[in-house]
Amino acid sequence: MPFSALGLHTALAQAAQTRGYTAPTPIQAEMLPAVLAGRDVLAQAPTGSGKTAAFALPLLQRVAAQPSERPRRVQALVLVPTRELAAQCGGVLRDFSAACSPRVEVALAFGGVSINPQMMALRGGADIVVATPGRLLDLVRQNALRLDNVQTLVLDEADRLLDLGFADELAQVLALLPAKRQNLLLSATFPGKVQALAKALLDGPVHIRV
Ligand code: AMP
Repeated sequence: MPFSALGLHTALAQAAQTRGYTAPTPIQAEMLPAVLAGRDVLAQAPTGSGKTAAFALPLLQRVAAQPSERPRRVQALVLVPTRELAAQCGGVLRDFSAACSPRVEVALAFGGVSINPQMMALRGGADIVVATPGRLLDLVRQNALRLDNVQTLVLDEADRLLDLGFADELAQVLALLPAKRQNLLLSATFPGKVQALAKALLDGPVHIRV
């Protein structure tokens, strides 16, 4: 089945083809229509399943479809456990954002490096922010960004987010988001604490298991 049959617009579907994604992976085939329809999603998504593009492609399409305000306000937040994953997710989103019209701005925020360049980058506004929880909260405290217009939250590798001790930061971030929003939770494993998080966070989710 081609990407376009899943509801992806031609430019993004072609960008996927160009990158050698000849057909959607199973998680992409299930996740794209659900995300495009605005549903909450609970996905069992191991690394290597194509999970990044499974949320990145429909997220970009939804964000590009919103009339963009100036300055840009953050419409989607992707929370990840590590800086490596932030770089990887951000790279995929930025790469595919070139196929979006109007342009979608993707900003990265992760710890372990100086905060100043990240503050500068956020000055012009961003449509999508990919972040680790601690640095995101630092940036909010410094008024470098606001989260009160976030319409979609993605938790990628939710099991590792909790394993790495981010539960408190996660709760603080959730408190800053609008109550009405779309939530996507991806995790390789589902121990009790991830199940509890999913139960608290998701509203009538589509369950995806690949
Ligand atoms: P991920 O599970 O997101 O870490 O992706 C694993 C790898 O699969 C990445 O190198 C992607 O570029 C690649 N990939 C993602 N989707 C597809 C697809 N539909 N066809 C071929 N490769 C893909």
